Amino acid sequence: MCFTYHNEELFAEGVSLHKLAQEVGTPFYCYSSDKLARNFQAYQNALKEFNNTICYSVKANPNLGVLRTLARLGCGADVVSAGEMYVALKAGIPADKIVFSGVGKTREELTQAIKNQILQINAESVAEVETINRIAIDLGLKANVAIRVNPDVDALTHVKITTGKKENKFGVDWDDAYHLYRAASRMPGIRLAGIAVHIGSQLLDLQPFRFAFTKIAQMVRDLEKEGIVLENIDLGGGLGINYNVELPPTCEAYADVVRETLGDLHKHIIVEPGRSIAGNMGILVAEVLYTKQMGEKNFIIIDAGMNDLVRPAMYDAWHTILPVARRGTAPIIADVVGPICESGDIFAKDRIIEPVQQGELLAIMCAGAYGAAMSSIYNFRPLVPEVLVNGEEFCVVRRRTSYEEMLSGQSVPQWL
Ligand SMILES: *Cc1c(COP(=O)(O)O)cnc(C)c1O
Repeated sequence: MCFTYHNEELFAEGVSLHKLAQEVGTPFYCYSSDKLARNFQAYQNALKEFNNTICYSVKANPNLGVLRTLARLGCGADVVSAGEMYVALKAGIPADKIVFSGVGKTREELTQAIKNQILQINAESVAEVETINRIAIDLGLKANVAIRVNPDVDALTHVKITTGKKENKFGVDWDDAYHLYRAASRMPGIRLAGIAVHIGSQLLDLQPFRFAFTKIAQMVRDLEKEGIVLENIDLGGGLGINYNVELPPTCEAYADVVRETLGDLHKHIIVEPGRSIAGNMGILVAEVLYTKQMGEKNFIIIDAGMNDLVRPAMYDAWHTILPVARRGTAPIIADVVGPICESGDIFAKDRIIEPVQQGELLAIMCAGAYGAAMSSIYNFRPLVPEVLVNGEEFCVVRRRTSYEEMLSGQSVPQWL
């Protein structure tokens, strides 16, 4: 099941990671279909008493194989660009299960969303609502719109992934939201479908959710008094996962908060989990290029870099690192680093780790969300393969980019 050792060798479900490394080369991402499905089903089970749509946040991992797996299970999508909407539709997620979020949607993107008649567009400003209205009128359509409100609550998470405070760029200011709802209710191109909130990512405490959802419930009631009746309450994503020693709330505990704060409103509940669906279903496998000692310090230099997985460099994130072949020898303290010409290209600092040798494989755990999705070709390094495992089967769901592909689209000026 998922990532476990068999005879001291790490497997992804029924597939040997050594075998995969031989097949596709290193580094590569490896995803477990089983874990992915279970993570989705955990939400499904927890929320089954509510009329609900689980809209997986595509930005966490937009791989077509991942999306198709979720689509087959009945999952919807939360997208933040027309590109993500395109892959979600390609994966077989129906338009009426797609939510479009984001603070800066272009006119072209909004046009696509309105033409596709998606479940709802989560608008984040007065100007955006007015723009949607004009586009919809021009198209002779009505756009399903929710207003993303900023509840001004602290998600108690990393500053770079906090989104629900007044000073963040996200959402409509709480005090302006009523006014905007009233104005939007008179716009002929707008069908007011709901209200949306998303307060941050990697939340390990339910209290910020409780605060935000309570405020939402109040706003929904107040709007009903004015004759504005909304169908959908979109609660965003943000539930944390265990990277190291965190104790994230379960989906059941999260659902308890939903029931407690919003249960008696009997609305259609939308959730947008990303990390908690894709995070622990994926790992990044890398080969040890060199080991070296400098004074007291040990370095393990691997062939994956911050361009492949930026979370440690960008968010000071912790990822557990396991040897693919486990020996049980006494651990050393080492920095696990990549080959990129940046001092920030470090996966783990002063990590207690089994000694490994040149040519051996390491698995960086919990890399399924915001891993491949945030990768780049910095240092002109190819995007690495992504492999989806299903029991004993596997499929390379994205192959390694070639240098030709990396250069395609570039051209040399005629004066050279
Ligand atoms: C990023 C994002 C999500 C997903 O957040 P996770 O922490 O990965 O669950 C959901 N909704 C919106 C609007 C987002 O921007």
